[in-house]
Amino acid sequence: MRSQARPGPLDALRALLPGVLAEAAELDHDGAFPSGSVAALREAGLLAAPLATGLGGAGWGLEPLAARDTATALRLVGRASLPLGRLLEGHVNALRLVQRRGAPAAVRLAAEEARAGLLFGVWNTEAPGEAPLTLGADGVLRGRKILCSGAGHVARALVTARDAADPAAPPRMVLAPLAPAERADLSPWTAQGMRASATGAVDFTGLAVGEERVVGSPGDYARQPDFSAGAWRFAAVHCGGAEAVLGHLRDHLRRTGRGGDPHQAARLGTAALAVESARLWVEAAAERAEAPRAAEDPGEGAIAFVNLARLAVERAGLDVLELAARSVGLSAYMRPNPVERVMRDLATYLRQPNPDGALAAAARHVLEAPGHPGDLWD
Ligand SMILES: Cc1cc2nc3c(=O)[nH]c(=O)nc-3n(C[C@H](O)[C@H](O)[C@H](O)COP(=O)(O)OP(=O)(O)OC[C@H]3O[C@@H](n4cnc5c(N)ncnc54)[C@H](O)[C@@H]3O)c2cc1C
Repeated sequence: MRSQARPGPLDALRALLPGVLAEAAELDHDGAFPSGSVAALREAGLLAAPLATGLGGAGWGLEPLAARDTATALRLVGRASLPLGRLLEGHVNALRLVQRRGAPAAVRLAAEEARAGLLFGVWNTEAPGEAPLTLGADGVLRGRKILCSGAGHVARALVTARDAADPAAPPRMVLAPLAPAERADLSPWTAQGMRASATGAVDFTGLAVGEERVVGSPGDYARQPDFSAGAWRFAAVHCGGAEAVLGHLRDHLRRTGRGGDPHQAARLGTAALAVESARLWVEAAAERAEAPRAAEDPGEGAIAFVNLARLAVERAGLDVLELAARSVGLSAYMRPNPVERVMRDLATYLRQPNPDGALAAAARHVLEAPGHPGDLWD
């Protein structure tokens, strides 16, 4: 008799994807947020999936054995909705940081809140030239963050805050509790895509946080290799977006009967090649970044590999956008053709910090590594 595998969190996620896809099509307007999809994740218990298995989660984004499933989850969600993928990536990242760096009491509290279905996010970006967010000795935050996805919806925002008495010291992480709609200003988010990610500015001035909300030590947020190697997670979401564009491209060629044309066939083949290359990079990067490391290993190899992976995925995304535009033609730019929205979302979300620096750092690693570069990633 064949034994039936027990459905796991990935199966639960797959069951939600048609609803996520449908909601994404409805929400392409400024200030939108995928409330229905987040509620579905909550009801399926998936907002607790980033918790350690010992805390009732699935270890998504945290445990080495869950690396492949986490990559699949982020990719599948990205394929259905890039804005929801962005939000899920932030949720996974926040819970990882708390569980990796937080004191036991902070971990317990965050785990309870994740199991209760609260949405977490990581908001680090500050406006150039503006005073940084600070935490005073009185436990009060002063200052703002910008480009906060899920602003007005995230209930626990992991923010980096400097010590008001010593702003030159590395920042600490604070898990700021926020009520719905509190402090959020979505008006600056005028990007062409990712309109449903509720990305905006949040002013924390006057928000008091207890000591139990301070996570880890100064400098923990940017501690390596986690900081750079974690880029595989957004690359996984990007990869899902590229898959979505590929799907629309194929649908178009089938619908129009143009797929047999050699030019169209070459573009479809090239797009399929780019997308599969991206997926292979993402999976390899996830496993390499999440693999257990000896205490004395600074993880430079993992960082270099993830830097290459994120750029390979970016390149694949850009190539697929160009190929789809060429193959579909003008209708790829016409609403309500779904590929129009997905292409805008992907083009926007592909913009991530310092791609030049990522390539330069990876090149430096290759330059300096002992042995043949062909053996570098064995
Ligand atoms: C949809 C979306 C949601 C987001 N949500 C969040 C969020 O929830 N929380 C959050 O903290 N942030 C968020 N961000 C911001 C994100 O993390 C990055 O800060 C942002 O995307 C950086 O984009 P950029 O192109 O301006 O990057 P930049 O790093 O400014 O890159 C632009 C160009 O400048 C180059 N460059 C970078 N640094 C230098 C330098 N020193 N000298 C010379 N050239 C340089 C780069 O290589 C690149 O060519 C979000 C971004 C997007 C698109």
